[in-house]
Amino acid sequence: MGAESPQDPGPSGQDETATLLVGPGYVVTPEGILPEGGVLVRGGHIARVGPYATLSRASTRASEDAAGPPGLLDTRGGLIMPGQINAHMHFYSALARGVSLGGEPAESFVQILERLWWRIDSALGPEDIRTSALLGLAECIRCGTTTVIDHHASPHACEGSLDLIRTAVDEAGLRAALCYEVSDRNGRELARAGIVENRRFARALAAEPADRIAAHVGVHALFTVSEETLEQCVAVAREEDIRLHLHVAEDRADVEHSLEHFRERPVERLWRHGALTENALAVHCVHVDRREIELLAATGTFVVHNPESNMNNAVGYAPIPELLEHNVCVGLGTDGMHSDMFAAARAAFLLQRHARGDPRAGWAEVPAMLWTHNARLASRLFGHSLGVLAQGAAADLVVLDYDPPTPLEAENLFAHLVFGFDARHVASTVVAGRVLMRDRELLTIDTAELSARAREQARALWERF
Ligand SMILES: [Zn+2]
Repeated sequence: MGAESPQDPGPSGQDETATLLVGPGYVVTPEGILPEGGVLVRGGHIARVGPYATLSRASTRASEDAAGPPGLLDTRGGLIMPGQINAHMHFYSALARGVSLGGEPAESFVQILERLWWRIDSALGPEDIRTSALLGLAECIRCGTTTVIDHHASPHACEGSLDLIRTAVDEAGLRAALCYEVSDRNGRELARAGIVENRRFARALAAEPADRIAAHVGVHALFTVSEETLEQCVAVAREEDIRLHLHVAEDRADVEHSLEHFRERPVERLWRHGALTENALAVHCVHVDRREIELLAATGTFVVHNPESNMNNAVGYAPIPELLEHNVCVGLGTDGMHSDMFAAARAAFLLQRHARGDPRAGWAEVPAMLWTHNARLASRLFGHSLGVLAQGAAADLVVLDYDPPTPLEAENLFAHLVFGFDARHVASTVVAGRVLMRDRELLTIDTAELSARAREQARALWERF
């Protein structure tokens, strides 16, 4: 792209009320990488993408006319790209970092759940939920992640938990889709409470819609979810017209349980319940066979790949090329490991090559997951154009102080990610036109105060279990 964006509003312009001018730098646009480019933001959306000098002149004229000068985000020749999207996250895991569990180390995925995560989430109280969310959100801003699809669990502090997270998201200024993890692992009553919390939050949001918040329905590992509970979750998603966010075939144990109890594999079970639709996110899908991949494809179900979590839990790796060959839309997430999508993408790239023993793997699959598919998924969830720098899209962008030492073009942007830039280079983060971090200074969260408080809360939490 060497000239004005094709969507350029022209000399008469719509820039008079512009509020933020970002540039100059290498702007990553759908048409290519625009050197010496800029982004003009107005009212939370992108008003114009084009040569910085042109945008700067236009906004100066506009300021002389009336509306006052736009705010400036000087990017000093860095890389200006869409904010990263994390398609699967657990904010609630933040206070578990560094915990010592005592006893024998877990030997299996199910033991990891029993000995770590189900103990952590059961011990969470309202303040822990709020602090965990803020920790994750601060990390997102630092890493240039502007949208998060979160999956929350706090069985003994369930009611109102999504409001606590939502308040933290509002404070931080990020964009997040929230849901509560429904499971029968703590009994029928707490499963019901989870369903009620999802419905309550969805209805409150429907009554008073918010630009940066979305609601969906969360479902835990399928082997902890009864037929009745699964049916009710599907019904809530359908009745409230929201999406389902399910953990599917993360470990072999999930498949074995499903075959033993239902004589069908997890994806087949979901299909029987009508849970597979264009509105569903099936997270992990590590252990899916060809028939299951065909079901995911035929129903338009989204899949979310979490490479680092899969490696950390030693559960195997998802059949990414097979899913993509069947045109399944596969996104990328971190599953609570952290909030750095550059790191997640690099891990996905290396895992594909290493696990498949094929040095051709990764180049096409990972950028598709990280950028194209995550953007499609998030845009559907929020009803805005996300993950793209183009006129009319949400003004969610990040600035990296990356001075490319070799030619930087659209075709090799992902190679620059794998071998060059990462979250260390993120200097500024903007969501809906609001600057949340400027030159590495977080503007919405006091991180020193937050970390001090979190350390105290983490110690108290660890003592409780
Ligand atoms: Zn998860």
